[in-house]
Amino acid sequence: MTETVLITGASRGIGLELTRQFAQAGARVIAACRHPERAPELNRLAADTQGRVSVQPLDVTQPAQVAALAAVMQGLALDILINNAGAFGPVAPFGETDEAAWIETFRINTVAPLKLMEALADSVAASERRLMVNMTSKMGSIADNRSGGLYIYRSTKAALNAVVASAAHDLRPRGITVVAQHPGWVRTDMGGPNGEISVQESATALRGIFARLGPDDSGRFIDIDGGDIPW
Ligand code: NDP
Repeated sequence: MTETVLITGASRGIGLELTRQFAQAGARVIAACRHPERAPELNRLAADTQGRVSVQPLDVTQPAQVAALAAVMQGLALDILINNAGAFGPVAPFGETDEAAWIETFRINTVAPLKLMEALADSVAASERRLMVNMTSKMGSIADNRSGGLYIYRSTKAALNAVVASAAHDLRPRGITVVAQHPGWVRTDMGGPNGEISVQESATALRGIFARLGPDDSGRFIDIDGGDIPW
């Protein structure tokens, strides 16, 4: 059976590579990105994959665009929703945090993943796999915070983890598995050139983890080696 996967933030980085690998593996991929006209690699991939990748415009912070995507998906089964789009937000030391930037990053990293899970729950519930993956970060772990700082990124990902814990609970009766997934420290625009792994290594490992996830995993905060990260 052909799997259908929806990936947000598919224009570059981990989202683009996940799109490539899922399509190569034969999945049908809905590649959501906020500026399709500025995503040449994604458009090339869509052209090269015989219709397996369809590019959908989506700024995850825009409710009208989320509703339009949900309308496109209505009546269709969505096996895996991957809430991958994310922002780091500006880095500022204690005392200089920018409130407006914090709120905007919160909308991208925390509010949008929940709104997409809400909008697409029926489509996911209608599928075989019934999986929702939220790309979080180890930096959102409060237990793992030994270096301080990074207020905006850490807090928005910690809040995303709280969203995942509630959604996992609320969607269990519908057979939907919801997880918070760390993709590793990856060499992307966000991860920078010193990241520990390439996008190819990250996406390969992520796909391996996703393939093994089932209802018993719902509510987990998962590392790139498949183990658990302390909250
Ligand atoms: P990149 O910075 O390379 O890419 C971010 C992606 O998110 C882009 O496709 C970007 O689109 C998209 N995006 C940002 N804001 C919006 C928005 N409002 N609407 C739609 N799309 C948006 O990041 P990575 O690929 O490195 O990261 C992917 C995910 O993994 C993120 O959630 C990140 O927090 C997480 N992560 C990454 C780590 C790393 O080491 N790289 C480590 C831990 C977690 P556009 O091109 O339009 O800007």
